[in-house]
Amino acid sequence: MTVVRPKKFLGQHFLKDKNIASKIVASLQLKEKSFVLEIGPGTGVLTEFLSQRPDVDLQLAEIDRESVAYLKVHFPHLTPRIHEGDFLEMNLNDLTNNKIHIIGNFPYNISSQIFFKILDHHDQVEQVVCMLQKEVADRLAEKEGSKTYGILSVLLQAFYKIELLYKVPPGVFYPPPNVMSAVIRLLRNERTRLSCDEVLFRKVVKQSFQNRRKTLRNALKPLNLPDSVLKHPFMDKRAEQLSVENFISLTTEIEKSRGASHKI
Ligand code: SAH
Repeated sequence: MTVVRPKKFLGQHFLKDKNIASKIVASLQLKEKSFVLEIGPGTGVLTEFLSQRPDVDLQLAEIDRESVAYLKVHFPHLTPRIHEGDFLEMNLNDLTNNKIHIIGNFPYNISSQIFFKILDHHDQVEQVVCMLQKEVADRLAEKEGSKTYGILSVLLQAFYKIELLYKVPPGVFYPPPNVMSAVIRLLRNERTRLSCDEVLFRKVVKQSFQNRRKTLRNALKPLNLPDSVLKHPFMDKRAEQLSVENFISLTTEIEKSRGASHKI
């Protein structure tokens, strides 16, 4: 018999409620048969519903050897589709050159790292449907003006429309987590490229939130901005007051000022 003992260090909380599992899988919006990667299938509660959808070309990424053994016994037809290993270390281009839709009840301990990886592949990742710690889900979907709006909210919203779908209580998991959970959906927006340098954009956003209580004039000191940028009205504001668009135009200003200084 194969059993999977829940391991805390892998963020394993298995969903017991099949109705919720079915609802999560139904939240994945596909227009045609698509490449779908499930992160952390565990004992396959989502996998079962995913494998029933004719529009899902399913692949699984699971780090836990016990879960992989379990999946092979209970879903033998999916064996060739299991990628055993750490999702964070996987090369997505090795899996497919097509667009990818990601689904999963994410291991909460590495959810931010999963999103930074998704950001690195925003040209390829079309959609994400996932369960997260509710607090993190709220933060990702938050707009400017809120205390919980942060680095990942800005970076992800630059490329994705984020919807909070529903809350999920601890009691439907084994073992129950200490926190509320929520399911969110990220859909790729229309923006193919930022109108500014993307590496600089990330740097500006990160640095701005590093000292979120300071005005940007102070928070961005390490970037040695020229006076022309320091005079910008955004410099009197704090990071959480700037929208995604504002961060893009600020980055553009910085880029322009650097271009000008290079010419001198
Ligand atoms: N989908 C299952 C399990 C969710 S728990 C369910 O809903 O019941 C999170 C799952 O992610 C576990 O199976 C865990 O082993 C897996 N996991 C944890 N870290 C991982 C990583 N770095 N890469 C891939 N899978 C991981």
